[in-house]
Amino acid sequence: MNNVYLNLAVAGVRGLKPYQPGKPISELEREYGVSDIVKLASNENPLGPGPAVLEAIADEVDQITRYPDGAAYELKQAIARRHGVAPECVTLGNGSNDVLVLLAEAFLQPGLEAVYSQYAFAVYPIAVQAVGATAQVAPAFDWESPQPLGHDLKAMGQRVSERTRLVFIANPNNPTGTWVTADALEGFVASVPPQTLVVVDEAYADYVDDPTYPSCPDWLEKYPNLVVTRTFSKAFGLAGLRLGYALSNPQVADILNRIRQPFNVNSIAQAAGLAALGDPEYLARSVETNNRERDRLAAALAELGLRFIPSVGNFLLVDFGAPAQPVYEALLRLAVIVRPVANYGLPDCLRISVGTAEENGRLISALGKVMGEGGA
Ligand SMILES: *Cc1c(COP(=O)(O)O)cnc(C)c1O
Repeated sequence: MNNVYLNLAVAGVRGLKPYQPGKPISELEREYGVSDIVKLASNENPLGPGPAVLEAIADEVDQITRYPDGAAYELKQAIARRHGVAPECVTLGNGSNDVLVLLAEAFLQPGLEAVYSQYAFAVYPIAVQAVGATAQVAPAFDWESPQPLGHDLKAMGQRVSERTRLVFIANPNNPTGTWVTADALEGFVASVPPQTLVVVDEAYADYVDDPTYPSCPDWLEKYPNLVVTRTFSKAFGLAGLRLGYALSNPQVADILNRIRQPFNVNSIAQAAGLAALGDPEYLARSVETNNRERDRLAAALAELGLRFIPSVGNFLLVDFGAPAQPVYEALLRLAVIVRPVANYGLPDCLRISVGTAEENGRLISALGKVMGEGGA
């Protein structure tokens, strides 16, 4: 398509490709005429929203003629309590995507640089490029590594220069499910210069049960250039409401607060987030279900002879050893949506979110059928 307005757009925007989300259920229904669809494409919580959240939303609905509390006083207090930090350390976002973009807008411009890893979350390149800054992409570990395709912090450190203002570390990373230990990460944070902010994206932190996984919010006082982002979209099950946050030193939060939209988090999301934090049982059940089902799914994939990356998140990256698009399409015809990752430079792989036992069963039997037919 020849877009005649493209040369009017600012330089960074001209080369951008839009983020490719997982295919929505309604779209598959429309396009393929299938029903009873299993969506394992966007790392959403398969349990659905918890009862406390649904109740809070119902209670808040009659307030929607009013603007939300722009300072989100109560929710910030609750988040601060959860992490043992001051409320001044919290910046809320319309999803954590929002705060990632705010960081890029606040600290990057043409001539300045951001570092991230090959195969890192696709939002980082978009955020960096949109503001005209330069990305330094560090090669990832290879498939033979204990963290296949994971972040190589040494390679990332080698790309930090005096022009680097942001480093993005997804821990765990999406789409690989890999992660970095507390020792390795702290060594990295301690090694970068003070003008480089290290953004640790902990979207999947709630799922990780390894004792060597870092507790980054505890490091904020020691490392003023550290920023930690979290989301309510994954284990908390609120992806559709768009709610996330950054934890940082209050001076960084002050800067983000200057550029965020005054009402970037809507009132329903604020009420739901507060209720979600008040329902630790739902979170525990979500994590427990996921981690159990992830192990079962992994075993079933292994039985099908497929290579995948051991994941600490709620998804698995599976390597089909040949272009995976036909497998993706064959699964769509069987009413199962997974996620292509060719846009990450991984055309042979698909990312599969962990669903309920029933959903995973549907996926495995569909995959068995597709693989039995010789790939697609
Ligand atoms: C899903 C995800 C997010 C969260 O996005 P939201 O905007 O909070 O929904 C952030 N980082 C990574 C690595 C993710 O996979």
